[in-house]
Amino acid sequence: MKFKLALAFLSCIIIMSAKAQRIDPDVEKVKGGVLTIQPIMHASFVLSYKDRMIYVDPTGGADSYKGLAAPSMIIITDIHGDHLDPKTIEAINTADATFVVPQAVADKLPATMDKQKIVILKNGAKTKQLGIKIKAIAMYNLPEAADAMHTKGRGNGYVLTIGKKNVYISGDTEDIPEMRDLKNIDFAFVCMNLPYTMDVKQAAQGVLAFKPKVIFPYHYRGQDTNAFKSLVNAGNKSLEVRLRNWYPTAK
Ligand code: ZN
Repeated sequence: MKFKLALAFLSCIIIMSAKAQRIDPDVEKVKGGVLTIQPIMHASFVLSYKDRMIYVDPTGGADSYKGLAAPSMIIITDIHGDHLDPKTIEAINTADATFVVPQAVADKLPATMDKQKIVILKNGAKTKQLGIKIKAIAMYNLPEAADAMHTKGRGNGYVLTIGKKNVYISGDTEDIPEMRDLKNIDFAFVCMNLPYTMDVKQAAQGVLAFKPKVIFPYHYRGQDTNAFKSLVNAGNKSLEVRLRNWYPTAK
């Protein structure tokens, strides 16, 4: 009996230490409540507002989301494994989740999924789900080429309007005109990493063009985000760059 208890205690400790390491979220006052921004890893994060849990590009398995409420919405930008991970989708509780995705992602979602829960958006298209306005924004490499890693039209960036605040999620892109033309963005999640997306200089130039109030560099593996912040603030002191650790499990 004692042995069994000890074993149970030990497995508890093991489970606890196996739990995902997460940094503290940013919590923002918005109309009607608070918007919580929880980075998970690289391109994956969770936005919550009232009872809505919005999982963006969920990856990393169920452990990465342990302790967080199940998603009411899952937003996916593109087909690559750091954005679309069918194994994670199958591992988390998606019973109440509406999926917002481009067609290329819909084609790769687990076949067992209820197709009625999938909202497919083309670049430029809009929808409203759970009271949240969502617009799909193009994301692609420059110069445009058929063999580019991100061809125009396949993936979606997004602008979500949550509690009257506009949240831009870049997806994998360079500083394309569609990003530069954005207006009134309150929070922007902007990617930077070569050779997949853009370098910090390009990302800073793009951000200076559309002037989001707060910028979270994300999807930045191997990049100097301090240099990004310096470049942005050298061009415009009023833009707030928030450097957060999007790789908390990295050694
Ligand atoms: Zn990516």
